[in-house]
Amino acid sequence: MIYLNTQKDTYVTSLSNLRSSLSIGFTTKKVGDCRKISVIQDYFKYYNLHNNKLVLLEQIHSANITNTNQHNNSKIEQLEESDGVISLEKNVILVVRVADCLPVIYFSLKTGCIGAAHIGWRGTLKNLMGKMIENIKNIGSESNDIYIIIGPAINQCCYEIDVDAYGEFMSVMERYSKVAFKPHGQKFRLNLERLNYELALESGIDKTHIDYFPFCTSCNSDHFFSYRRDYKKNSELFGEMMGYITVQ
Ligand SMILES: [Zn+2]
Repeated sequence: MIYLNTQKDTYVTSLSNLRSSLSIGFTTKKVGDCRKISVIQDYFKYYNLHNNKLVLLEQIHSANITNTNQHNNSKIEQLEESDGVISLEKNVILVVRVADCLPVIYFSLKTGCIGAAHIGWRGTLKNLMGKMIENIKNIGSESNDIYIIIGPAINQCCYEIDVDAYGEFMSVMERYSKVAFKPHGQKFRLNLERLNYELALESGIDKTHIDYFPFCTSCNSDHFFSYRRDYKKNSELFGEMMGYITVQ
C-alpha cells in the first residue's frame, strides 16, 4: 500500500516496514524540482541521511544497469548512460528522477540488495524490468525474496504512443496487447504501469510483493510534475520528482 506522508510531501509504501533500516519514497512537486542536486540534498538532510552517498543516473531511456558496489568514496556518484542501478552497499541512496516515466524501486530481503530504475516506453520495450530482476538474482537473490514498488507515473488516460511504437511492442510483447494497449484515434494508449507489473510477474515476482501507485502524474497537477502536460506548453512549470531507496 502506498500512502502520502504529508509532513514531507512524499508517497511512501508499507513495504518499507519489511526492515526498520529501509527508507523508500517518491516525492511530489511540493518537495521541489529534483533536477537540482541542492533540492535532493536538502531533502535528505531532513532525514539525517545527508552523510549517505548519493547515487544519480544519467537516464538515457536504455536498459543499461550499473552495479555500484565498486568502492567509491565520493559523496555523489553520477552513473553515466544508466537507467537502472543495483547495490549491496549500505548507506547509499539510489535516486531516479522522473516526470511521467515509472520510478521503480527494488529490494531483496535475502541479500539486502537495493535497486532503482527509470522506465519509460523505450525501457519497457527493452524489458528493463525483467533485466533488473535478473541482475538482482545474479548476485544471490531468488524471485520469492524480491519486492518491487512502482511509483507515480503517467497512466493510460494520458499516455499516447504512435503506431510505430505500438508495432515495436507487438513484435516482442503481443501477449499483452489486450491488457496494456487501447486504440485511440490514429494512435494507441499505453498502460505503462500495468505492462511493467505484468513483466515483473513474468519474471517470477509474487503479486503480493509488488506495490504500485494508482494515480496519474498528468491528471494530478496539484501533486506531480508531468513532462507530457507541461514540458512544451508550460516549461516554467516543469520539474522532476525523485524516487529513492536506502538501507542503513
Ligand atoms: Zn491521466
